[in-house]
Amino acid sequence: MTETNMTANASSTPITNSSLLARSLAAVWHPCTQMRHHAEGGAMSLPLIPIARGEGAWLYDFEGKRYLDGISSWWTNLFGHANPRINAALKAQLETLEHVMLAGFTHQPVVELSERLSALTGGELGHAFYASDGASATEIALKMSFHYWQNQGEREKTRFLCLQGSYHGETVGALAVTDVALFRDAYAPLVRQSATVMSPDARQAAPNETAIDVARRAAALLETRLQAEEGRVAALIVEPLVQGAAGMAMYDPEYLRLARQLCDRYRAHLICDEIAVGCGRTGTFFAHEQAGIRPDLLCLSKGISGGYLPLSIVLCRDKIFQAFYDADTARGFLHSHSYTGNPLACRAALAMLDIFESDDVLAANRAKAQKLHAALEPLRVHPQVRHLRGQGMILAFDVETDDVAFSRRYYRAALNRQTLLRPMGNTVYVMPPYIINDAEIEQLGRVAQAALDAALGGEA
Ligand SMILES: *Cc1c(COP(=O)(O)O)cnc(C)c1O
Repeated sequence: MTETNMTANASSTPITNSSLLARSLAAVWHPCTQMRHHAEGGAMSLPLIPIARGEGAWLYDFEGKRYLDGISSWWTNLFGHANPRINAALKAQLETLEHVMLAGFTHQPVVELSERLSALTGGELGHAFYASDGASATEIALKMSFHYWQNQGEREKTRFLCLQGSYHGETVGALAVTDVALFRDAYAPLVRQSATVMSPDARQAAPNETAIDVARRAAALLETRLQAEEGRVAALIVEPLVQGAAGMAMYDPEYLRLARQLCDRYRAHLICDEIAVGCGRTGTFFAHEQAGIRPDLLCLSKGISGGYLPLSIVLCRDKIFQAFYDADTARGFLHSHSYTGNPLACRAALAMLDIFESDDVLAANRAKAQKLHAALEPLRVHPQVRHLRGQGMILAFDVETDDVAFSRRYYRAALNRQTLLRPMGNTVYVMPPYIINDAEIEQLGRVAQAALDAALGGEA
Protein backbone atom coordinates (compact mmCIF):
# COMPACT_ATOMS: atom_id res chain seq x y z
CA MET A 1 0.00 0.00 0.00
CA THR A 2 1.33 3.44 -0.87
CA GLU A 3 1.53 6.22 1.64
CA THR A 4 -1.31 8.18 -0.01
CA ASN A 5 -3.62 5.18 0.16
CA MET A 6 -2.86 4.77 3.82
CA THR A 7 -3.76 8.38 4.51
CA ALA A 8 -7.02 8.05 2.61
CA ASN A 9 -7.91 4.92 4.54
CA ALA A 10 -7.06 6.26 7.96
CA SER A 11 -10.26 5.68 9.86
CA SER A 12 -9.21 7.89 12.75
CA THR A 13 -9.81 11.08 10.74
CA PRO A 14 -13.49 11.98 11.04
CA ILE A 15 -15.18 12.52 7.68
CA THR A 16 -16.47 16.02 7.06
CA ASN A 17 -18.54 17.35 4.18
CA SER A 18 -15.57 19.12 2.65
CA SER A 19 -13.06 16.30 3.06
CA LEU A 20 -15.40 13.80 1.40
CA LEU A 21 -16.18 16.23 -1.43
CA ALA A 22 -12.52 16.75 -2.18
CA ARG A 23 -11.85 13.01 -2.22
CA SER A 24 -14.91 12.32 -4.36
CA LEU A 25 -13.87 14.90 -6.95
CA ALA A 26 -10.38 13.37 -7.01
CA ALA A 27 -11.38 9.69 -7.25
CA VAL A 28 -14.99 9.26 -8.43
CA TRP A 29 -16.32 9.85 -11.94
CA HIS A 30 -19.92 10.82 -11.26
CA PRO A 31 -22.67 9.70 -13.67
CA CYS A 32 -24.55 11.88 -16.13
CA THR A 33 -22.35 14.84 -15.25
CA GLN A 34 -19.82 17.17 -16.83
CA MET A 35 -17.39 16.83 -13.90
CA ARG A 36 -16.09 20.34 -14.37
CA HIS A 37 -19.54 21.67 -13.38
CA HIS A 38 -18.97 20.09 -9.96
CA ALA A 39 -15.62 21.83 -9.53
CA GLU A 40 -16.48 25.30 -10.81
CA GLY A 41 -18.82 28.07 -9.77
CA GLY A 42 -21.01 30.05 -12.15
CA ALA A 43 -24.50 29.63 -13.56
CA MET A 44 -23.91 26.03 -14.72
CA SER A 45 -22.33 24.87 -11.47
CA LEU A 46 -23.70 21.73 -9.88
CA PRO A 47 -23.00 21.34 -6.19
CA LEU A 48 -21.86 17.85 -5.16
CA ILE A 49 -23.70 16.87 -1.99
CA PRO A 50 -22.07 14.54 0.53
CA ILE A 51 -24.56 12.19 2.18
CA ALA A 52 -23.82 10.46 5.46
CA ARG A 53 -27.09 8.63 6.00
CA GLY A 54 -30.74 8.44 5.04
CA GLU A 55 -33.92 8.05 7.02
CA GLY A 56 -37.46 8.05 5.68
CA ALA A 57 -37.83 10.73 3.01
CA TRP A 58 -34.68 12.52 4.20
CA LEU A 59 -30.98 12.50 3.30
CA TYR A 60 -28.46 13.83 5.86
CA ASP A 61 -24.97 15.21 5.30
CA PHE A 62 -22.06 14.98 7.77
CA GLU A 63 -22.93 18.23 9.51
CA GLY A 64 -26.56 17.48 10.26
CA LYS A 65 -28.00 19.38 7.30
CA ARG A 66 -30.80 17.43 5.66
CA TYR A 67 -32.60 17.29 2.31
CA LEU A 68 -36.13 16.11 1.55
CA ASP A 69 -35.81 13.54 -1.23
CA GLY A 70 -38.46 14.92 -3.59
CA ILE A 71 -37.40 12.70 -6.50
CA SER A 72 -36.99 9.36 -4.67
CA SER A 73 -33.24 9.30 -5.35
CA TRP A 74 -33.61 9.11 -9.12
CA TRP A 75 -37.06 7.46 -9.01
CA THR A 76 -35.91 4.38 -7.12
CA ASN A 77 -36.93 4.79 -3.50
CA LEU A 78 -40.52 3.84 -2.68
CA PHE A 79 -40.72 3.38 1.08
CA GLY A 80 -38.05 5.68 2.42
CA HIS A 81 -34.37 5.36 3.20
CA ALA A 82 -33.36 2.80 5.85
CA ASN A 83 -36.87 1.38 5.91
CA PRO A 84 -37.01 -0.87 9.00
CA ARG A 85 -39.00 -3.63 7.29
CA ILE A 86 -36.79 -3.84 4.20
CA ASN A 87 -33.68 -3.61 6.40
CA ALA A 88 -34.87 -6.53 8.54
CA ALA A 89 -35.62 -8.68 5.50
CA LEU A 90 -32.19 -7.93 4.04
CA LYS A 91 -30.36 -8.66 7.30
CA ALA A 92 -32.05 -12.07 7.52
CA GLN A 93 -31.23 -12.79 3.88
CA LEU A 94 -27.63 -11.71 4.44
CA GLU A 95 -27.26 -14.33 7.16
CA THR A 96 -28.70 -17.02 4.85
CA LEU A 97 -27.44 -16.56 1.29
CA GLU A 98 -25.84 -13.44 -0.13
CA HIS A 99 -25.39 -14.69 -3.69
CA VAL A 100 -25.28 -17.73 -5.88
CA MET A 101 -25.08 -17.92 -9.66
CA LEU A 102 -28.48 -18.37 -11.29
CA ALA A 103 -27.19 -20.42 -14.22
CA GLY A 104 -27.66 -23.99 -13.05
CA PHE A 105 -28.73 -22.96 -9.52
CA THR A 106 -31.88 -21.57 -8.00
CA HIS A 107 -32.96 -20.15 -4.64
CA GLN A 108 -36.05 -19.21 -2.69
CA PRO A 109 -36.10 -15.41 -3.19
CA VAL A 110 -35.86 -15.61 -7.00
CA VAL A 111 -38.57 -18.27 -7.22
CA GLU A 112 -40.94 -16.43 -4.89
CA LEU A 113 -40.38 -13.13 -6.65
CA SER A 114 -40.98 -14.65 -10.10
CA GLU A 115 -44.19 -16.30 -8.89
CA ARG A 116 -45.51 -13.16 -7.26
CA LEU A 117 -44.76 -10.92 -10.24
CA SER A 118 -46.39 -13.40 -12.59
CA ALA A 119 -49.46 -13.45 -10.32
CA LEU A 120 -49.58 -9.64 -10.49
CA THR A 121 -49.99 -9.97 -14.28
CA GLY A 122 -52.83 -12.43 -13.79
CA GLY A 123 -50.44 -15.19 -14.84
CA GLU A 124 -50.23 -13.79 -18.38
CA LEU A 125 -46.51 -13.02 -18.16
CA GLY A 126 -45.40 -16.34 -16.78
CA HIS A 127 -41.59 -16.22 -16.84
CA ALA A 128 -39.15 -13.74 -15.32
CA PHE A 129 -35.64 -13.06 -16.61
CA TYR A 130 -33.23 -11.18 -14.33
CA ALA A 131 -30.52 -8.53 -14.67
CA SER A 132 -29.13 -5.71 -12.56
CA ASP A 133 -30.10 -2.41 -14.18
CA GLY A 134 -32.73 -0.88 -16.37
CA ALA A 135 -30.68 -0.56 -19.55
CA SER A 136 -29.92 -4.29 -19.40
CA ALA A 137 -33.63 -5.02 -19.05
CA THR A 138 -34.24 -3.01 -22.22
CA GLU A 139 -31.51 -4.93 -24.04
CA ILE A 140 -32.91 -8.24 -22.84
CA ALA A 141 -36.40 -7.33 -24.05
CA LEU A 142 -35.06 -6.25 -27.47
CA LYS A 143 -32.90 -9.37 -27.82
CA MET A 144 -35.72 -11.66 -26.70
CA SER A 145 -38.15 -10.12 -29.17
CA PHE A 146 -35.70 -10.32 -32.07
CA HIS A 147 -34.58 -13.86 -31.20
CA TYR A 148 -38.21 -14.99 -30.80
CA TRP A 149 -38.95 -13.99 -34.40
CA GLN A 150 -35.73 -15.61 -35.59
CA ASN A 151 -36.69 -18.84 -33.84
CA GLN A 152 -40.11 -18.59 -35.52
CA GLY A 153 -38.43 -18.35 -38.91
CA GLU A 154 -39.39 -14.67 -39.35
CA ARG A 155 -35.91 -13.52 -40.31
CA GLU A 156 -37.03 -10.10 -41.60
CA LYS A 157 -38.32 -8.92 -38.24
CA THR A 158 -35.24 -7.03 -37.13
CA ARG A 159 -36.57 -3.50 -36.54
CA PHE A 160 -37.76 -1.72 -33.42
CA LEU A 161 -40.04 1.26 -33.04
CA CYS A 162 -39.90 3.72 -30.16
CA LEU A 163 -41.66 6.96 -29.29
CA GLN A 164 -40.26 10.42 -29.91
CA GLY A 165 -38.30 11.55 -26.86
CA SER A 166 -38.15 7.98 -25.56
CA TYR A 167 -35.63 6.97 -22.92
CA HIS A 168 -34.92 3.30 -22.31
CA GLY A 169 -31.35 3.39 -21.00
CA GLU A 170 -27.89 4.40 -22.13
CA THR A 171 -25.90 1.29 -22.99
CA VAL A 172 -25.01 1.04 -26.69
CA GLY A 173 -27.88 -1.40 -27.32
CA ALA A 174 -30.46 0.53 -25.32
CA LEU A 175 -29.46 3.80 -27.01
CA ALA A 176 -31.01 2.32 -30.17
CA VAL A 177 -34.41 3.05 -28.64
CA THR A 178 -33.42 6.14 -26.65
CA ASP A 179 -34.37 9.29 -28.57
CA VAL A 180 -32.41 11.82 -26.51
CA ALA A 181 -29.85 13.65 -28.63
CA LEU A 182 -27.63 14.63 -25.71
CA PHE A 183 -27.17 10.99 -24.70
CA ARG A 184 -27.05 9.50 -28.19
CA ASP A 185 -25.34 11.84 -30.63
CA ALA A 186 -21.80 11.39 -29.28
CA TYR A 187 -22.10 7.65 -29.92
CA ALA A 188 -24.20 7.78 -33.10
CA PRO A 189 -21.75 5.72 -35.21
CA LEU A 190 -22.00 2.89 -32.67
CA VAL A 191 -25.77 2.88 -32.33
CA ARG A 192 -28.25 0.95 -34.45
CA GLN A 193 -30.90 3.64 -34.61
CA SER A 194 -34.54 2.58 -34.41
CA ALA A 195 -37.41 4.42 -36.03
CA THR A 196 -39.22 6.91 -33.82
CA VAL A 197 -42.96 7.40 -34.06
CA MET A 198 -45.05 10.31 -32.77
CA SER A 199 -45.31 10.48 -29.00
CA PRO A 200 -48.88 10.68 -27.68
CA ASP A 201 -47.70 13.43 -25.26
CA ALA A 202 -50.90 15.30 -24.38
CA ARG A 203 -49.07 18.65 -24.34
CA GLN A 204 -49.21 18.57 -28.14
CA ALA A 205 -52.99 19.01 -28.14
CA ALA A 206 -54.21 21.67 -30.54
CA PRO A 207 -56.70 24.17 -29.02
CA ASN A 208 -59.66 22.02 -30.10
CA GLU A 209 -58.08 18.69 -29.17
CA THR A 210 -58.25 16.54 -26.04
CA ALA A 211 -55.58 14.16 -24.75
CA ILE A 212 -57.51 11.27 -26.26
CA ASP A 213 -57.48 12.98 -29.65
CA VAL A 214 -53.70 13.30 -29.49
CA ALA A 215 -53.46 9.61 -28.54
CA ARG A 216 -55.56 8.65 -31.58
CA ARG A 217 -53.53 10.90 -33.87
CA ALA A 218 -50.30 9.27 -32.64
CA ALA A 219 -51.79 5.79 -33.04
CA ALA A 220 -52.79 6.56 -36.63
CA LEU A 221 -49.18 7.48 -37.39
CA LEU A 222 -48.02 4.32 -35.67
CA GLU A 223 -50.27 2.34 -37.99
CA THR A 224 -48.84 4.14 -41.03
CA ARG A 225 -45.36 3.17 -39.91
CA LEU A 226 -46.28 -0.45 -39.18
CA GLN A 227 -47.89 -0.66 -42.62
CA ALA A 228 -44.83 0.78 -44.33
CA GLU A 229 -42.57 -1.66 -42.51
CA GLU A 230 -44.92 -4.63 -42.59
CA GLY A 231 -43.14 -7.88 -41.73
CA ARG A 232 -40.00 -6.09 -40.55
CA VAL A 233 -40.93 -4.73 -37.10
CA ALA A 234 -40.05 -7.01 -34.20
CA ALA A 235 -41.41 -4.77 -31.45
CA LEU A 236 -42.68 -1.39 -30.36
CA ILE A 237 -41.25 -0.25 -27.02
CA VAL A 238 -43.13 2.32 -24.93
CA GLU A 239 -43.21 3.72 -21.42
CA PRO A 240 -46.88 3.40 -20.46
CA LEU A 241 -48.72 6.64 -19.47
CA VAL A 242 -45.65 8.76 -18.62
CA GLN A 243 -42.46 9.18 -20.63
CA GLY A 244 -40.26 10.00 -17.67
CA ALA A 245 -36.95 11.21 -19.04
CA ALA A 246 -38.74 12.87 -21.97
CA GLY A 247 -39.81 15.51 -19.43
CA MET A 248 -42.66 13.66 -17.70
CA ALA A 249 -44.67 13.58 -20.92
CA MET A 250 -48.08 12.22 -19.92
CA TYR A 251 -50.60 10.67 -22.25
CA ASP A 252 -54.00 9.07 -22.47
CA PRO A 253 -54.25 5.27 -21.99
CA GLU A 254 -56.19 5.14 -25.26
CA TYR A 255 -52.79 5.12 -26.99
CA LEU A 256 -51.84 1.88 -25.26
CA ARG A 257 -55.15 0.25 -26.19
CA LEU A 258 -54.67 1.18 -29.83
CA ALA A 259 -50.96 0.26 -29.83
CA ARG A 260 -51.87 -3.15 -28.41
CA GLN A 261 -54.40 -3.70 -31.23
CA LEU A 262 -51.95 -2.53 -33.87
CA CYS A 263 -49.12 -4.70 -32.56
CA ASP A 264 -51.48 -7.68 -32.72
CA ARG A 265 -52.64 -6.80 -36.22
CA TYR A 266 -49.13 -6.28 -37.58
CA ARG A 267 -47.63 -9.11 -35.52
CA ALA A 268 -45.11 -7.08 -33.54
CA HIS A 269 -44.38 -7.38 -29.84
CA LEU A 270 -45.45 -4.66 -27.46
CA ILE A 271 -42.70 -4.02 -24.90
CA CYS A 272 -43.75 -1.95 -21.88
CA ASP A 273 -40.81 -0.31 -20.12
CA GLU A 274 -42.17 0.17 -16.60
CA ILE A 275 -38.74 0.77 -15.10
CA ALA A 276 -39.87 4.23 -13.94
CA VAL A 277 -43.68 3.98 -14.01
CA GLY A 278 -44.12 0.50 -12.49
CA CYS A 279 -44.54 -0.46 -8.84
CA GLY A 280 -47.49 1.82 -8.14
CA ARG A 281 -45.97 5.08 -9.35
CA THR A 282 -48.86 5.99 -11.67
CA GLY A 283 -51.71 4.84 -9.45
CA THR A 284 -51.94 1.14 -10.39
CA PHE A 285 -49.27 -1.45 -9.66
CA PHE A 286 -48.39 -1.62 -13.36
CA ALA A 287 -49.10 1.47 -15.45
CA HIS A 288 -50.36 -0.60 -18.42
CA GLU A 289 -53.26 -1.85 -16.28
CA GLN A 290 -54.95 1.53 -16.73
CA ALA A 291 -55.40 0.72 -20.41
CA GLY A 292 -56.77 -2.75 -19.69
CA ILE A 293 -54.02 -4.35 -21.75
CA ARG A 294 -50.98 -6.58 -21.25
CA PRO A 295 -47.67 -6.20 -23.04
CA ASP A 296 -45.74 -9.16 -24.45
CA LEU A 297 -42.62 -8.13 -22.56
CA LEU A 298 -42.50 -6.01 -19.41
CA CYS A 299 -39.33 -4.34 -18.05
CA LEU A 300 -39.03 -3.53 -14.35
CA SER A 301 -36.22 -1.96 -12.31
CA LYS A 302 -35.72 1.19 -10.18
CA GLY A 303 -38.50 0.85 -7.57
CA ILE A 304 -38.67 -2.94 -7.83
CA SER A 305 -36.10 -3.33 -5.03
CA GLY A 306 -37.61 -0.44 -3.09
CA GLY A 307 -34.59 1.62 -4.15
CA TYR A 308 -32.20 -0.63 -2.25
CA LEU A 309 -30.22 -2.77 -4.67
CA PRO A 310 -29.57 -2.97 -8.40
CA LEU A 311 -32.18 -5.29 -9.86
CA SER A 312 -34.07 -5.49 -13.12
CA ILE A 313 -36.54 -7.99 -14.47
CA VAL A 314 -38.11 -8.76 -17.83
CA LEU A 315 -41.41 -10.61 -17.63
CA CYS A 316 -42.59 -12.35 -20.79
CA ARG A 317 -45.55 -14.26 -22.15
CA ASP A 318 -45.26 -18.04 -22.11
CA LYS A 319 -45.58 -18.02 -25.87
CA ILE A 320 -42.26 -16.19 -26.07
CA PHE A 321 -40.66 -18.53 -23.56
CA GLN A 322 -41.89 -21.55 -25.52
CA ALA A 323 -40.24 -20.34 -28.74
CA PHE A 324 -36.84 -20.78 -27.06
CA TYR A 325 -37.65 -24.14 -25.44
CA ASP A 326 -35.84 -26.66 -27.61
CA ALA A 327 -33.18 -29.39 -27.68
CA ASP A 328 -30.91 -26.98 -29.59
CA THR A 329 -28.73 -24.84 -27.26
CA ALA A 330 -28.50 -21.98 -29.75
CA ARG A 331 -32.29 -21.58 -29.79
CA GLY A 332 -32.13 -20.81 -26.07
CA PHE A 333 -31.76 -17.33 -24.62
CA LEU A 334 -28.04 -17.37 -23.82
CA HIS A 335 -27.90 -14.05 -22.01
CA SER A 336 -26.56 -13.59 -18.49
CA HIS A 337 -25.04 -11.18 -15.99
CA SER A 338 -22.86 -12.26 -13.09
CA TYR A 339 -25.37 -11.00 -10.51
CA THR A 340 -28.48 -12.22 -12.35
CA GLY A 341 -31.19 -12.91 -9.76
CA ASN A 342 -29.07 -11.84 -6.79
CA PRO A 343 -30.79 -13.16 -3.62
CA LEU A 344 -30.35 -9.95 -1.63
CA ALA A 345 -31.87 -7.84 -4.41
CA CYS A 346 -34.75 -10.33 -4.82
CA ARG A 347 -35.32 -10.28 -1.05
CA ALA A 348 -35.52 -6.48 -1.10
CA ALA A 349 -38.12 -6.77 -3.89
CA LEU A 350 -40.14 -9.30 -1.89
CA ALA A 351 -40.07 -6.98 1.13
CA MET A 352 -41.26 -4.16 -1.14
CA LEU A 353 -44.17 -6.33 -2.36
CA ASP A 354 -45.02 -7.28 1.24
CA ILE A 355 -45.32 -3.62 2.19
CA PHE A 356 -47.47 -2.99 -0.89
CA GLU A 357 -49.90 -5.68 0.16
CA SER A 358 -50.02 -5.18 3.90
CA ASP A 359 -50.30 -1.37 3.79
CA ASP A 360 -52.75 -1.04 0.87
CA VAL A 361 -50.28 1.37 -0.70
CA LEU A 362 -52.31 2.12 -3.83
CA ALA A 363 -55.20 3.46 -1.76
CA ALA A 364 -52.89 5.47 0.51
CA ASN A 365 -51.12 6.91 -2.53
CA ARG A 366 -54.40 8.11 -4.01
CA ALA A 367 -54.93 10.32 -0.97
CA LYS A 368 -51.32 11.51 -0.99
CA ALA A 369 -51.38 12.28 -4.70
CA GLN A 370 -54.45 14.49 -4.11
CA LYS A 371 -52.63 16.40 -1.40
CA LEU A 372 -49.58 16.80 -3.63
CA HIS A 373 -51.82 18.19 -6.36
CA ALA A 374 -53.35 20.65 -3.93
CA ALA A 375 -49.88 21.70 -2.73
CA LEU A 376 -48.72 22.47 -6.28
CA GLU A 377 -52.01 23.85 -7.61
CA PRO A 378 -51.15 27.51 -6.83
CA LEU A 379 -48.40 27.25 -9.49
CA ARG A 380 -51.04 26.92 -12.20
CA VAL A 381 -51.57 30.66 -12.30
CA HIS A 382 -47.86 31.52 -12.26
CA PRO A 383 -47.22 33.54 -15.45
CA GLN A 384 -44.28 31.34 -16.52
CA VAL A 385 -45.75 27.92 -15.64
CA ARG A 386 -47.29 25.72 -18.35
CA HIS A 387 -48.94 22.30 -18.30
CA LEU A 388 -49.17 21.58 -14.59
CA ARG A 389 -49.97 17.88 -14.73
CA GLY A 390 -50.00 14.71 -12.70
CA GLN A 391 -50.33 10.96 -12.89
CA GLY A 392 -50.41 9.17 -9.56
CA MET A 393 -47.31 10.04 -7.55
CA ILE A 394 -45.70 12.04 -10.37
CA LEU A 395 -46.41 15.77 -10.68
CA ALA A 396 -44.77 18.05 -13.20
CA PHE A 397 -44.91 21.48 -14.79
CA ASP A 398 -42.96 23.25 -17.52
CA VAL A 399 -41.35 26.64 -17.08
CA GLU A 400 -41.24 29.19 -19.85
CA THR A 401 -37.77 30.70 -19.79
CA ASP A 402 -34.84 31.13 -22.17
CA ASP A 403 -32.27 30.75 -19.39
CA VAL A 404 -30.13 27.70 -20.33
CA ALA A 405 -29.00 27.49 -16.71
CA PHE A 406 -32.59 27.33 -15.41
CA SER A 407 -32.52 23.70 -14.27
CA ARG A 408 -29.22 24.26 -12.43
CA ARG A 409 -30.47 27.42 -10.76
CA TYR A 410 -33.65 25.65 -9.70
CA TYR A 411 -31.75 22.64 -8.36
CA ARG A 412 -29.45 24.87 -6.29
CA ALA A 413 -32.34 27.01 -5.09
CA ALA A 414 -34.22 23.90 -3.90
CA LEU A 415 -31.11 22.51 -2.15
CA ASN A 416 -30.77 25.87 -0.38
CA ARG A 417 -34.24 25.13 0.95
CA GLN A 418 -33.44 21.61 2.19
CA THR A 419 -35.13 19.92 -0.72
CA LEU A 420 -33.91 17.68 -3.53
CA LEU A 421 -35.72 18.66 -6.74
CA ARG A 422 -33.78 18.23 -9.97
CA PRO A 423 -35.57 19.54 -13.06
CA MET A 424 -35.03 18.00 -16.49
CA GLY A 425 -34.47 20.98 -18.75
CA ASN A 426 -37.40 23.31 -18.17
CA THR A 427 -39.60 20.59 -16.66
CA VAL A 428 -39.83 20.61 -12.88
CA TYR A 429 -41.23 17.45 -11.33
CA VAL A 430 -42.01 16.00 -7.94
CA MET A 431 -41.82 12.22 -7.51
CA PRO A 432 -41.49 11.51 -3.80
CA PRO A 433 -41.23 8.23 -1.88
CA TYR A 434 -44.66 6.84 -0.98
CA ILE A 435 -44.03 7.26 2.77
CA ILE A 436 -44.11 11.06 2.47
CA ASN A 437 -46.24 12.72 5.18
CA ASP A 438 -48.42 15.83 5.23
CA ALA A 439 -45.69 18.17 6.50
CA GLU A 440 -43.30 16.91 3.85
CA ILE A 441 -45.93 17.36 1.13
CA GLU A 442 -46.43 20.91 2.35
CA GLN A 443 -42.66 21.50 2.12
CA LEU A 444 -42.53 20.13 -1.43
CA GLY A 445 -45.31 22.48 -2.51
CA ARG A 446 -43.76 25.47 -0.76
CA VAL A 447 -40.22 24.84 -2.06
CA ALA A 448 -41.41 24.03 -5.59
CA GLN A 449 -42.76 27.57 -5.72
CA ALA A 450 -40.02 29.35 -3.79
CA ALA A 451 -37.27 27.71 -5.87
CA LEU A 452 -39.09 28.73 -9.03
CA ASP A 453 -39.18 32.38 -8.06
CA ALA A 454 -35.55 32.20 -6.87
CA ALA A 455 -34.35 30.51 -10.07
CA LEU A 456 -36.24 32.92 -12.31
CA GLY A 457 -34.98 35.83 -10.21
CA GLY A 458 -31.39 34.65 -10.80
CA GLU A 459 -30.64 33.60 -7.21
CA ALA A 460 -27.35 31.73 -6.80
C1 LIG B 1 -33.99 4.74 -15.67
C2 LIG B 1 -34.65 4.15 -16.83
C3 LIG B 1 -34.01 3.18 -17.63
C4 LIG B 1 -32.59 2.76 -17.41
O1 LIG B 1 -32.37 2.18 -16.16
P1 LIG B 1 -30.89 2.17 -15.58
O2 LIG B 1 -30.97 1.34 -14.36
O3 LIG B 1 -30.56 3.60 -15.28
O4 LIG B 1 -30.00 1.61 -16.63
C5 LIG B 1 -34.72 2.63 -18.68
N1 LIG B 1 -35.99 3.01 -18.93
C6 LIG B 1 -36.63 3.93 -18.18
C7 LIG B 1 -38.03 4.27 -18.51
C8 LIG B 1 -35.98 4.53 -17.13
O5 LIG B 1 -36.61 5.49 -16.42
